[in-house]
Amino acid sequence: MSLSLKIKRVPTVVSNYQKEEAEEAGRRSGGCDRNCFNNCCLPGAKLPLYAYKGVDTAADEKALAELEDADIPMAFLDSLVLGEWEDRMQRGLFRYDVTACETKVIPGKYGFIAQLNEGRHLKKRPTEFRVDKVLQPFDGKKFNFTMVGQEEVLFQFEASEDGDAQYYQNAPIDIENSPNVVAINVSPIDYGHVLLIPRILKCLPQRIDHESFLLALHMAVEAANPFFRLGYNSLGAFATINHLHFQAYYLAVPFPVEKAPTKKITILENYGVKVSELRNYPVRGLVFEGGNTLQDLSNAVSDTCICLQGNNIPYNVLVSDCGRRVFLFPQCYAEKQAMGEVSAELLDTQVNPAVWEISGHMVLKRKKDYEEASEKNARRLLAEVSLSGERFQEVKALIFEAIFCSMNKTHITAQGLESLEEDVEVQSAEDLFGMKQEQGSHTAMVTGTHDCLVMQ
Ligand SMILES: [Zn+2]
Repeated sequence: MSLSLKIKRVPTVVSNYQKEEAEEAGRRSGGCDRNCFNNCCLPGAKLPLYAYKGVDTAADEKALAELEDADIPMAFLDSLVLGEWEDRMQRGLFRYDVTACETKVIPGKYGFIAQLNEGRHLKKRPTEFRVDKVLQPFDGKKFNFTMVGQEEVLFQFEASEDGDAQYYQNAPIDIENSPNVVAINVSPIDYGHVLLIPRILKCLPQRIDHESFLLALHMAVEAANPFFRLGYNSLGAFATINHLHFQAYYLAVPFPVEKAPTKKITILENYGVKVSELRNYPVRGLVFEGGNTLQDLSNAVSDTCICLQGNNIPYNVLVSDCGRRVFLFPQCYAEKQAMGEVSAELLDTQVNPAVWEISGHMVLKRKKDYEEASEKNARRLLAEVSLSGERFQEVKALIFEAIFCSMNKTHITAQGLESLEEDVEVQSAEDLFGMKQEQGSHTAMVTGTHDCLVMQ
């Protein structure tokens, strides 16, 4: 069945220039005089630059100790984000005062957090794009981050060239190499809500690659604040802009998903990454942690994301615990929505279950929903987001196949197998890794990776 529905509403405006999208194209030809982040306004522009020490923290304890001793303390990035963010608040760049939004913890075993955020609701005709394709080409005519104003950009975020963390208040912008930038989200969900836009001028579509995900992990490590989390929504999983970006903000309590029990599936031997499965949480998902190096953790997650993208499976990612733990949720809400399988009652709330909602921070648009917020209602929404148990097993098989493939291994170690048999509910590793031909509609998805199937 082919789904051709489009998102009917986009809930947020992330930049003050997004609403001018329509006029933008016309104005372009005549030049631009509003200090944007494009070739017309960038030459000669300067921005702060934070250069992080490219130390592989997980790998090198000694280097980590040195990092802590460095001239720029670890928490510098943290204060930079908040200082610059506060400055933009003073300058009135946000669409509403997020600190005035009501928030409460919903009674119950999960501790879901409800927020009433009427300001995020968008009345203009939104950008429309397909929800049935996780990978879509970049479209320069639609809103993208090169259209933001330079005043919305907080700083550049690059790996240091000489291995030392450095900060420059006024650094030129290297247009050739296209900077990674951190910008405000003008419709914040919470305090310090920013966007990390890798290689902004390259105009990458919303898709995870190894380099960009490692950059996001570095940001979590450098911020060194457990309340600071990064999130990612793929297209089809409520990303609203097809220009590669991560989101991040501060929430001073644990996300419910961070407290959920997990069960180990395996340790990826080459990476040293432990992969677990969430237990007793309304959305099925995987947890990645550890790793011989930060790059290993990054690679395990990126391999997974690239696999999901390649198989057109929408997903969300949460980076928590200062970059030490990564949650990954394949999801099917938009698909169900497109097929008319989501109840009118849920649709009426206009809540789009993206990474924050899935992790347990419910951003509600109507006062009524806020007042009536209950664990039952939150679970009802999240139940529609989660893959079924059966589908999750299939997706896990695809994921592990891709990871093992990427690790360039021809076999799993005895230890890996043992823990698989011990911990996983499926009966055999073949069930886990070998997508069987008779699985009908999903068979096509595996085509093309058969040459590196593990366990056959
Ligand atoms: Zn311009």
